[in-house]
Amino acid sequence: MAGRSGGGHRLGCVPGQVKTEAVVLRSMRYGEADRILHLYTPHRGRIGAIAKGVRRSRSRFGGRLEPFFRIEAELHEGRGELMTVTGAQTVDAHGRLRGDARAIDAAARACDAVGRLFETGEPHPGVFNLLCRQLALLDAQASSQEPRAAGRAGSLSFRLKLLLSAGLAPQLGACANCGEPEHLVGFSGAAGGVVCAACEAGSFPLSEEAHEFMGEALGKPLAEAPAAGERTLAQVERAVAVTLEHHAHVQLMPAFAAA
Ligand SMILES: [Zn+2]
Repeated sequence: MAGRSGGGHRLGCVPGQVKTEAVVLRSMRYGEADRILHLYTPHRGRIGAIAKGVRRSRSRFGGRLEPFFRIEAELHEGRGELMTVTGAQTVDAHGRLRGDARAIDAAARACDAVGRLFETGEPHPGVFNLLCRQLALLDAQASSQEPRAAGRAGSLSFRLKLLLSAGLAPQLGACANCGEPEHLVGFSGAAGGVVCAACEAGSFPLSEEAHEFMGEALGKPLAEAPAAGERTLAQVERAVAVTLEHHAHVQLMPAFAAA
């Protein structure tokens, strides 16, 4: 079937109709009763869409177009920049997450990071799956004794995996500048990873714990994200930030709300 690269599933043969799974990243009021949505999809990347009449009490969309909803969306693609939402079924509402302020905050930061780093229509199904896993974890751990995914370590593990999906994973196995495998003492955004004592100019000091945290966070599933102390996590966050600034020219909001 002819179609744009990365096209979603077509509905029958109706031209312009697109059916796709999506996560609602953002939802902005528009006009009297409409909303403009940012949706993240597995095969069409980030989509801008308008949902008409969604803020009326009898809207057929109900509350399904709120942030963090995972939906099966039906969209109409016209000539404009925005698609029009014509239908939405809930795949996962993440209802528990909504009752927990920390989980809501972490979900908002995760959605914001995906929307900023992957803002085009380029397909990244791995990013979609990663975001769905993070939202599901936040939902499962909401209001629990140990909401690990909502903590700073959980948020940073998620960001490191996003870097990996964007092709920006920091080099951790040897000096990113000269290849030296030992005496790795710093992190350099320009070099794209850890650096040795001889190459540390322009880098900032990185502890062994922070180095280890990054390796584990990249290697383990999100549900098994490592834990670490605040000083270690501050170094990890700085490493993520300089990598993004240097290689993607993107600045994200802090990974975690200061208490
Ligand atoms: Zn070196």
